[in-house]
Amino acid sequence: MDVSASTTAASGVKTDVKTGNGMIRPNSFRVVAGPCTVESYEQFYASAEAVKKAGFEYVRGGAFKPRTSPYSFQGLGEEGLKILSEVAGEFGLKVVSEVMDPYDIELVMEHADVLQIGARNMANFSLLKRVGAAIAGTRHGAVLKRGLSSTVEEWLQAAEYITSSGGDNVVLCERGIRTFESSTRFTLDLSAVIVAKRLTDLPVIVDPSHAAGRRDLVVPLSKASVAAEADGLMVESHHDPQEALCDGEQALPAEALHGLKGILRPFASAMGREVI
Ligand code: PEP
Ligand code: MN
Repeated sequence: MDVSASTTAASGVKTDVKTGNGMIRPNSFRVVAGPCTVESYEQFYASAEAVKKAGFEYVRGGAFKPRTSPYSFQGLGEEGLKILSEVAGEFGLKVVSEVMDPYDIELVMEHADVLQIGARNMANFSLLKRVGAAIAGTRHGAVLKRGLSSTVEEWLQAAEYITSSGGDNVVLCERGIRTFESSTRFTLDLSAVIVAKRLTDLPVIVDPSHAAGRRDLVVPLSKASVAAEADGLMVESHHDPQEALCDGEQALPAEALHGLKGILRPFASAMGREVI
């Protein structure tokens, strides 16, 4: 099937969504940072403060966590969402947070500006349709992560479930795919970023943290993402990664986050973009 036919105006689907409700802006490179999960008020406050001090405007944090093992920490749920919106409000940050269940969409929308649909839910079509309908005509946007083993075509068609349900503000997120390579958690597929951007008007950001699974690769992969024409990044950061309940080994500590904007600036500027 010709993907381009299904994801451009040829299909009649509105794809003029470059702004993603303010999340993605022309000539800009958006950085979203924050912990994998909201663990407590104190933890999220310290992590959000580091995001603010690093000069970024969007904080991430999961309240509903799609953990592979049912015995891993599942997130604080509604309590986590309340912490998210309260702390983000104090710092004037916008919030990206995951929704896993159609039942929780309204609740997540009350506390977050952008709804994340995780890699494990990319093909949950009823969730995609419900999110599309729920964010239609609102200030909210959605970030759609690429499935662990999904092709670009499947990813774009999943996005179209959201857009065709009325949710225009969709941002695609490449977060690494499963390959035979074992030195990283997943394999960051930067070709997919470029291919997706050629096939659709939707913005594409990169999550180097889940792709690498190790913090020493996060900054180099971030630089590479700028060069690969990505519209932004979603990185995990934590005020105390050793103590993180989830994904600590891939989280940037505050000092590294503080340096990120300056490190990316010359790369972004070479691409005609400003890091925001
Ligand atoms: C996350 O962003 O914390 C997450 C679970 O990501 P993914 O769905 O890409 O694994
Ligand atoms: Mn994570």
